This record gives sequence, structure tokens and C-alpha cells, in this order.
Amino acid sequence: MSTVLSLAGVRKTYGDLNALDGIDLSLPDDSYVSLLGPSGSGKTTLLRVIAGFETPEAGTVSFKGERVETVPPHLRDIGFVFQNFALFPHLSVEKNIAFGLENRVENPITDASVVKTKVRDIIGLVGLAGLEDRAVTQISGGQKQRVALARTLVTEPSLVLLDEPLGALDANLRTRMLTELRRIRQRCGVTFLHVTGSETEALAMGDTVLVLDQGRIAQAADADTIYNEPKSVAVARFLNCYNLFSGAPSDGRFAGPDGQFPLGAEKRFSSAVPGYAIRYDRVGIRPLDAPVAADEVSLPATFVADEYSGPAVNSFFQLENGRVVEVETHLSVAPAPRCKPHARYALVWKQNDALVYA
Ligand code: ADP
Ligand code: MG
Repeated sequence: MSTVLSLAGVRKTYGDLNALDGIDLSLPDDSYVSLLGPSGSGKTTLLRVIAGFETPEAGTVSFKGERVETVPPHLRDIGFVFQNFALFPHLSVEKNIAFGLENRVENPITDASVVKTKVRDIIGLVGLAGLEDRAVTQISGGQKQRVALARTLVTEPSLVLLDEPLGALDANLRTRMLTELRRIRQRCGVTFLHVTGSETEALAMGDTVLVLDQGRIAQAADADTIYNEPKSVAVARFLNCYNLFSGAPSDGRFAGPDGQFPLGAEKRFSSAVPGYAIRYDRVGIRPLDAPVAADEVSLPATFVADEYSGPAVNSFFQLENGRVVEVETHLSVAPAPRCKPHARYALVWKQNDALVYA
């Protein structure tokens, strides 16, 4: 697969703040890439540098094999779907979509029938047929999202940047739009770079997932690898599905304020910040006196409460020092645990399901 965009050593500062602190990345052609990071990690800044709205102080940006740091945004052949849609409120759906084609600086399309054909094709693709003459003030949030996307796609860019595109939609609509975005991208064959603060969205969408932490790429891999093998404590934390324990390995155990875990066949990662991680759904709940195998770790804890979320139950336990440990039971593989409030249990996991950072 060839590369559509690559960045090397890109730095962008605002005063004393390193918003982008040496970014290296490369995006493959014809793929869905998600960019995950907490608020303030530099996601929007990174998109703005790629689009050309910001000039980096250092580093290189190459697009389709050409250096573009000094190329203005409208000459980059990169589409941008903004967080708040940024539609023209006084124009209809069709006119909003046609606007960019008719008014672009390079190659504006002046033949009305060509514009009409292109706009009609895109309206079909994004599922807005029948709404062409509607004012954009009189359509739903999901439909506005489609107009914003159509307006970008109609110019046939080689790369589309989407900044938290589903942030303004309610949860139901978000799930539907995710499926739609994947379908639309596949039909156009262009690369989408989709920025999100939601780990579930990032993992569900991305053929490749980039994790941004304080202006640096903390990990770039396929969704499975990110989910199963986050390579640092920070990445594991963003995923929101790992119990993380501080401490350090010594003498065949990982020891910290929450307990001592015997070490065996864990996955090991070299990391500046040490830690021990076990995924919520890798932890089992047993009676306190049930036997524990040699390759298992057992941690006594007090049951606090359950939270049901359709296909899974999340159970919360507390350690003696007050620390909360979470267990997720997928109802497709096990019955719901029925723990007694305030009773003590053994939380048990296999050593080879744990991740150790040291
Ligand atoms: P994200 O999109 O991940 O929430 P941003 O890229 O918007 O993060 O911001 C990264 C950091 O840069 C934040 O600390 C933000 O306050 C700062 N920042 C962004 N834009 C500007 C600006 N124009 N001037 C000064 N600081 C900025
Ligand atoms: Mg942002």
C-alpha cells in the first residue's frame, strides 16, 4: 500500500506550549485512520497543520510525495470536515454542496450541468436524496453532518480530515453515522483521518489507530494491537478498559500500593513510566476461599455495585486502601455475576493476560 501523507519531526508551539512535539506519522492510501487523544493533546492542531491552516516551526509534511509546508490550504487537495459543520445557513442543501465546486480558486466548475451531476451523485452517496432544496437550518443534526461531508467529498480530495465529526450527534445517531462513514469512505476510496476523543469510536472505525498524547504519537497500530497491547501506561489509560496499578517489578513480583502480583508470563513493554495493567474483561470473580492456580493472580476486594449496559455488566470492587477495581462480564460468554454488596471476593486473572510496563 502506498502512502498518501507523511509527517516527520513536526513541531508546533504556542508561546511556551509544545502543542505538537515532534510528530512522525504516515497514512496509507485508501484507508480509515482514527486519531485518538484526550482533550488538549493536539488533535485539532495536527489536523490544522496537515490542512495548511498552521505552519509548523520544524519538520516536514509530504502529501502524495511532495513537500507541502508552504502550500496554502486551498491548493493542497485535502478536505476538512469541521467539528461544528460550518454550513452556510442561508443556502439550501444542494447550494451548500455546490458552493465549493463553483467557488474554488483552482479550477472552479462553471458548467452548471457538470455541477448538477456531481452534486446529485454525492447527495445519493451520503443519503440526502429528496432534501436538495431544504434549507440547512431545517434539517436534523445527522443530515447536517452528511451535508458537511458531501460538501468536502464533492471536490474529490485525496485525503479527508474529520475533526470529531460525530461530537454534536446523540448516541444513537453516532452509531449509525459510524457505519455510514465507513461505507462512504469505501465507496470513494480516499483516506479518512478521523479525530475522536472516544476510544470506542477510534477502535471501531480505524483500520489504523494513532494515539496522541501531549503532542506526540504514543502508538500507531491496527485497532486489535492497540486494544490488546497498549504500549504504554498512558495509552492503556486512554482506552478506558484496563485496571492500572502503579508500582515496580522486583524479586518475581510487581509490588505497589494496591498489592503484590506474582510475575510469570505477562506481556512486557519497556516504558519510562512503570505500571501493571489488566483488562476489565480478563478479571474473574470467585469466592474468597476458591483455589487459585499457579499461573493466576488473586486480589481480595469488596463488592460495591454493578452497572448494566446491555451486552455486558461492569462490577465495581474496592481494595482495602479504597482503590476501585473494575470487572467486565460479557453476557454472551458468562452469566451476570450476582455479588452481595459489602461481601468480599477474590478477583482472579491469568498472569499471561496482564501487561507489565517497566
Ligand atoms: P485537541 O484538539 O486535542 O483538544 P488542540 O490541538 O486544540 O487539542 O490544542 C492543543 C493544545 O494547544 C492545547 O493546550 C490548546 O490550549 C493549545 N492551543 C491550541 N490552539 C491554540 C492557539 N491558537 N493559541 C494558543 N494555544 C493553542
Ligand atoms: Mg480539538
